[in-house]
Amino acid sequence: MKLIRFGQPGREKPGILLDGQRKDLSAFYRDWDREFFNGDGLSNLKKLVMHSELPDVSADERWGAPVSRPGKVICIGLNYSDHAKESNMPIPEEPIVFQKGANTVVGPYDTVIIPRKSVKTDWEVELGVVIGRDARYLESPEDAIRHIAGYCISHDVSERAFQLERGGQWTKGKSCDHFNPLGPWLLTADEVIDPQQLAMQLSVNGERMQTGHTGTMIFGVHFLVHYLSQFMTLEAGDLISTGTPPGVGLGMNPPRYLRAGDVVELSIDGLGSQRQLCVDAE
Ligand code: ZN
Repeated sequence: MKLIRFGQPGREKPGILLDGQRKDLSAFYRDWDREFFNGDGLSNLKKLVMHSELPDVSADERWGAPVSRPGKVICIGLNYSDHAKESNMPIPEEPIVFQKGANTVVGPYDTVIIPRKSVKTDWEVELGVVIGRDARYLESPEDAIRHIAGYCISHDVSERAFQLERGGQWTKGKSCDHFNPLGPWLLTADEVIDPQQLAMQLSVNGERMQTGHTGTMIFGVHFLVHYLSQFMTLEAGDLISTGTPPGVGLGMNPPRYLRAGDVVELSIDGLGSQRQLCVDAE
């Protein structure tokens, strides 16, 4: 199944994408959130969809992020061997973990806002993993499988000067408004045969910048969920962004960054595509 949300920011309603048409599920569910996922919502939803006539969502409704605001957004740094190389960083021995403000999550076609005083706003296409059942001290990577709700495109927009030149940790360069377009849909895990077999790409103004494949991840999705659960409880609805392949602006010679008016497009096999216009912060 493909979960979607639609409507104005902060007032999104839950739906699904069925044969290319968005369907409104708001008569049955409040939202695609922790309560829904933990309560076996996905299997109940499947039955409901098979046996019900569902109203269409009108084509002019905005696409929201496909899940409710996550409790937390965990990101993995330098998780592609080829990206670590372009960043002149050693291959990590353990996953590099950082957090991003959950309020950065916006819809897949919303704007990317260039923060005030930013000159180094950069792009990062990533495979997003949404937790489907609370996970704590998982025994093995195989155990992670039943704790994953599904997958979506996650755009980990990053301000490199804030991230790397202003002291401290990376949080300042990762948590600006609109820095995490998500979606357009969450593809449920039962429909993803192998999350390490997905091609991904990103272009700016039609020019291909990132070309990657989840097969070159250093730490795979199941390992990451197991690993993170040793340090924190992953709650259903939490988002993990699993790192970006090569081709970010920081790695170019000379480096290249986003400006107002630029258009960024991202896609991952089976997960659709995003498109964002860059605008300056007011
Ligand atoms: Zn990232």
